[in-house]
Amino acid sequence: MRSIFTLLLVAASSIAFAAEPGDELLRSVAAKEYPSLEKFYLTTHTNPELSLQEEQTSKRLAAEWRAAGFEVTEKVGGFGVVGVLKNGPGKTVLIRTDLDALPVKEETGAEYASKITATDPAGKTVPVMHACGHDIHITSIIGVARAMAGMKDRWSGTLVLMGQPAEEIVRGAKAMLDDGLFTKFPRPDFCLALHVDSELEVGKVGFVSGFAMANSDSAEIVIRGIGGHGAQPQTTKDPVVIAAQTVLNLQTIVSREVRAIDPVVISVGSIHGGTKYNIIPDEVTLQLTIRTYKDDVRAKVFKAIERIVKGTAATAGVPPELEPKITFREGTPSTYNTPELVTRVTQTLRRTLGEENVIQRDPSMGGEDFGLLGRQEPKIPIFMYRLGSVSKEKVAASKAGGPALPSLHSSKYLPEREGTIKTGVVSMTAAALDLLKK
Ligand SMILES: [Zn+2]
Ligand SMILES: [Zn+2]
Repeated sequence: MRSIFTLLLVAASSIAFAAEPGDELLRSVAAKEYPSLEKFYLTTHTNPELSLQEEQTSKRLAAEWRAAGFEVTEKVGGFGVVGVLKNGPGKTVLIRTDLDALPVKEETGAEYASKITATDPAGKTVPVMHACGHDIHITSIIGVARAMAGMKDRWSGTLVLMGQPAEEIVRGAKAMLDDGLFTKFPRPDFCLALHVDSELEVGKVGFVSGFAMANSDSAEIVIRGIGGHGAQPQTTKDPVVIAAQTVLNLQTIVSREVRAIDPVVISVGSIHGGTKYNIIPDEVTLQLTIRTYKDDVRAKVFKAIERIVKGTAATAGVPPELEPKITFREGTPSTYNTPELVTRVTQTLRRTLGEENVIQRDPSMGGEDFGLLGRQEPKIPIFMYRLGSVSKEKVAASKAGGPALPSLHSSKYLPEREGTIKTGVVSMTAAALDLLKK
């Protein structure tokens, strides 16, 4: 039975960190490490770096993992960092954090808000902000590194930490794999990651079993017509009208060609053509984002887009030599959380955080390149879970019709840092300890 004193202690520590007792040691490690983790977090939040520019972030992270006792290799696939801690025979677990920030002007009002600007790939000066919470991920995995290094008697095997650049442009995971992540370093038996959730209460974690994030691809379509005078459309093949029809026809792929239980999104995010009100232009360019889960659905949707785009132009009388030009760009493949691993890890998370703090979430049509780690043959089970980051009061107020919660990538998104980081450290350490238990 617990004494009143212990109860008081637990009550006091659960103000910012609502979790059921389950592993006191883990929680005390998280509490002990928190002040220095907070310092790291604030520095990182104030000094965000764009994708492919994560030089300082990656250096600071490498120094922390090294200090925790990991063997650290820098510059893996750009500014990627790999930390390895070998601790006897057993399985190998990889834990990934992303490193990059976004071209967003921070409007959180925090005293530690970023005022940083950087030069984007187009040469433009842009504001930079950790609007996707990757600073929380980095900080949490530093806490995990310290906790695991300090509890070597509780596990056996190898822990690999992956600091991944360029997640926001979904290039970093591929770059690190191409640079030997699974060949130069111990090949993992399991891969784990966490990502902040902008709608979930702090202290809770969320999970999706199976497809969690989508295939995220794009297409550029140039619809070619025959230009001419706006007052004499009969002498032209008007690509503006064809483009308008194409945009609408494309939506029938989702509604008529794909099974209703296979999610697909086709959004035309950009449409450009023409110079002046009375000139029918020669061409109109469309840019699409295409989201799917299953690879066969993705292939079917690509084919349907091609057929509809070409068919719409042909129907309008565009001659074959001017048929539309279509370029597909495969972005990142979907993230499939391996159900067996999800079951195992969520059981551990329930024991550690309490049943009510482990919540099933809906899958998302967003993209994330962590999924690539689960697609390398022979396939490795992977699991990315979500980390609650918003105060209970704000979640309740938004559910009651109050102010909407800022989404990820919003200039106003600011996680509740203490509870989020502590839950990140405790949950991920508990998961790693379970997968590497003696
Ligand atoms: Zn993001
Ligand atoms: Zn993110």
